[in-house]
Amino acid sequence: MRSIRGVGDMKDLVFDNRFVRDLPADPEPGGHVRQVHGACYSRVMPTPVRMPQLLAWSPEVAALLGLTEADVRAPDFAEVFGGNALLPGMEPYAACYGGHQFGNWAGQLGDGRAITLGEAINDRGERWELQLKGAGPTPYSRRADGRAVLRSSIREFLCSEAMHHLGVPTTRALCLVGTGEQVIRDMFYDGNPRPEPGAVVCRVSPSFIRFGNFEIFASRGEEELLGRLIDFTIARDFPEIEGDSADKRIRWFDEVCRRTAVLMAHWTRVGFVHGVMNTDNMSILGLTIDYGPYGWIDNFDPDWTPNTTDAGGRRYRFGQQPQVAHWNLWQLANAIYPAIGAVEPLEAALHRYVDMHEAESRRMMTAKLGLAQWQEGDSALLGDLYRLLHEGEMDMTIFYRRLADLDARLDDRPDDAALAPFADAFYRDDRRAAVQDELAGWLRRYGARLRQQEMPQAQRRAAMNRVNPLYVPRNYLAQQAIDAAEQGDPSRVAELLDVFRLPYDEQAGRERFAAKRPDWARHKAGCSMLSCSS
Ligand code: AMP
Ligand code: MG
Repeated sequence: MRSIRGVGDMKDLVFDNRFVRDLPADPEPGGHVRQVHGACYSRVMPTPVRMPQLLAWSPEVAALLGLTEADVRAPDFAEVFGGNALLPGMEPYAACYGGHQFGNWAGQLGDGRAITLGEAINDRGERWELQLKGAGPTPYSRRADGRAVLRSSIREFLCSEAMHHLGVPTTRALCLVGTGEQVIRDMFYDGNPRPEPGAVVCRVSPSFIRFGNFEIFASRGEEELLGRLIDFTIARDFPEIEGDSADKRIRWFDEVCRRTAVLMAHWTRVGFVHGVMNTDNMSILGLTIDYGPYGWIDNFDPDWTPNTTDAGGRRYRFGQQPQVAHWNLWQLANAIYPAIGAVEPLEAALHRYVDMHEAESRRMMTAKLGLAQWQEGDSALLGDLYRLLHEGEMDMTIFYRRLADLDARLDDRPDDAALAPFADAFYRDDRRAAVQDELAGWLRRYGARLRQQEMPQAQRRAAMNRVNPLYVPRNYLAQQAIDAAEQGDPSRVAELLDVFRLPYDEQAGRERFAAKRPDWARHKAGCSMLSCSS
């Protein structure tokens, strides 16, 4: 592994690698696959790639790290973020964690293809962990190759940045680097493996610690280590939590519950389905993490999941995510119990999760509907709306934008006129016919509800358009960018990223990015269904 001084003219990034400094390392060297006991991580180098090439980058994340465009465009940049060279201060490692996958304890998982390079400190003193995904084998790679394909890397890069701009807590992405190497994947697990272009994403987050980092120690009875990791996490990632050691641990779990509740309400607000909410994919910071076979709601359907691996049980369907998060928090509570020594405060926090999620959801739905405050009768109004959106197979994103345009003063319009603005929210004529009378009735009720409050139309429209996005990374849009990139043209990734930087604002000339899913994409791989193969 080559060490290079700076990237281009950039001043050296400053690293302060607390995770490797304060926590115990696996004493065994080398990347061979093994069970790692008594350690939080294993030191491992990225495996160099043949021809690293910068395909896309995020100007906002570069700026967070103090990098300029010239830094990013310098040839050495792709060398570092493709995994071929290290900057001074980088200390690569893969973390050890376990997890519950689809409801079952899966034992040790760990960073099988992610390698953290270090914790960069920017000039505001913020800590940003830099992590390469797809950087080659680690002790946690199990039977897999440690690599990632271009299609899934584009999806992670684009969606994590889009989420940030949507105001949803998330890990970030600095850049996407093509490796110039092929990766073999059987995309549908149907016995047809084929070579695909490989890529590496540099993910950026204050921390990549997951629920599973704590679960692994609990499962092995490594209680001293469990306590150490908890106290480390509180000290590094939750410095605002005060109290004596025992109090802090309880407050910390409470805060994890609170953040997770907020995150779930956001996912519901924007129509995001994670797809693999295993406990190893749950961030301790309450961030969206590990973008795999995720999807975006086109036609509103609480039962939808994009993940073909989950098609049978639909455990991780859109409408169930808040309950799954609660179940995952229970697993975390079980795991940290030995370090808390009392059941009651953990149970209290888990109950509070339900209340906090309820309150947060209500707050967001109040805003989505343009209401000044929630009042009696609104739950029924919302319940009926959900039913109509579902039965009518209406596009969720388009519906809320059109709803913002509705002028409550026009309460005596004929049904046709009231429904006209919603025409392009429908995917099917038969579904439209089935719900249109009821929908017209609902719009009248909604209009009457608006007239009970004194919010001017323009003000309500502006407020609604700040929480109901116009541009979301619909699956088919990402797939079009992927198809072009696989043909050698990465420019559509940058174009999409640019659109998603202002998801709430109308962008002249970019109307097509706000269009509903076209018919051809209804059942196309990558557009409506995805496998875990990535
Ligand atoms: P996921 O469900 O994608 O979050 O992955 C579950 C586990 O499998 C994690 O421990 C990953 O690091 C590991 N994993 C997934 N894909 C690969 C791969 N291509 N090579 C090595 N490990 C992988
Ligand atoms: Mg994962």
